[in-house]
Amino acid sequence: MSLLLTGGTIVRSLRPPVVESSDLAVEDGRIAVPELAPVGAERVDCSGCLVVPGNVCAHTHLYSALARGMPYGLGPPHDFVEILRRVWWRLDRALDETTIRASALAGGMEALLAGTTTLIDHHASPFAVDGSLDIVADALAELGIRSVLCYETSDRDGPLVAGTGIAENARFLAAVSTGERPLARGMVGAHASFTLSEATLAACAGLARERSVGLHIHVGEDAADERDAEARFGRRVVARLAAAGAIDRRSLLAHGVHLDAGEIEIVTHAGATVVHNPRSNMNNAVGRAPLAALGDRVALGTDGIGADLFEEGRAAYFRHREEDLETGMAWPLDRLAESARVAGEAFGEPLLGSLVPGAPADVVVLRYPAVTPVDAGTLAAHWLFGIGAGSVRDVIVAGELVVRDGRPVRVDSGSLAAEARSGATRLWRRLDAIDVHPFERMEAPAWRT
Ligand SMILES: [Zn+2]
Repeated sequence: MSLLLTGGTIVRSLRPPVVESSDLAVEDGRIAVPELAPVGAERVDCSGCLVVPGNVCAHTHLYSALARGMPYGLGPPHDFVEILRRVWWRLDRALDETTIRASALAGGMEALLAGTTTLIDHHASPFAVDGSLDIVADALAELGIRSVLCYETSDRDGPLVAGTGIAENARFLAAVSTGERPLARGMVGAHASFTLSEATLAACAGLARERSVGLHIHVGEDAADERDAEARFGRRVVARLAAAGAIDRRSLLAHGVHLDAGEIEIVTHAGATVVHNPRSNMNNAVGRAPLAALGDRVALGTDGIGADLFEEGRAAYFRHREEDLETGMAWPLDRLAESARVAGEAFGEPLLGSLVPGAPADVVVLRYPAVTPVDAGTLAAHWLFGIGAGSVRDVIVAGELVVRDGRPVRVDSGSLAAEARSGATRLWRRLDAIDVHPFERMEAPAWRT
């Protein structure tokens, strides 16, 4: 597919902002030079539009896409671990192959329609582990969205499920390494230090090293994670992970809310990335990441609260700004650029997240009649106070138009939503029969007792 996007205002890069009035050519899945666009290229009129790099969500859980409005008959949770035991660790146990697919389709479609072109997902379905990443990858490939997938290995459902989780990560990494899934890559997924035994953590870290991919893991989301590491191992979470060889420049550490100075030192020295998920953190009342101390290597995720990165960036900015008036308007753009860098690393595409010649053509066309000038100096203000997911008109992933005029091209949004609602009914019925998760705490290793 060759495309020529004409008459738009092009955002070539978010970090630093580069804005030009120009045509944009897309050929063979990449941004091309307009002068060399083939004669038969489809012309897409983008006058009055802002043309931007597709957003990357650096941490999400598609498996929670059908949780919206689900029944809840238990008493209210009092802390973060109770939220997991009463809500999310029941929902993931209820998932089967049908509802994994329905969740991925629903979450993937909403992501595309919100201008998100890559999802870095963390999947859990402890009673349907084997092959689950293929189901997610197939659903996302049907929609035409790019993804980096992993299975959330954990000992919370017993050693058998933990072993199956590691095997699922290994199987999927081997499958994507053959190139048979051009839009998918893998990482090694692990839940969090407080639900991982030494043996399971070592196996995850070993697999990540062997496959030269990053470990994607929740870190210090709640103080309970730190308390557990201190009680079981006499050290903080990041120190435990580092000792297991689980922290390097490819590591993706979700949340990092409770990192102390020593942990921040380890993370920044290793060049690992922390994913900030502000709306989820506020919703779970777990606190907020030490953003100023973490510096540049902070990406942005939604933690499953949809995939609208425009909205997440706004929430991140306002919450950060409330605490620190020196937070600049470009800060959310830098976070989105960091998310794109992480995805680019997974795909071996350092230009992903920019619209310069040679970059993968992941492009979003925003209908945006700007009422003040848009240039490199003002882009950040437009991003925060003007544009949003409601402005998304067209979405291109790897050179293919997958959303046109606000509608998905490859699927019928009405029938997909109907399939999702029927999946939700099935999931909620199964969920109703599942009790509070019995997890209490992991055993301390023998060398500590
Ligand atoms: Zn998460």
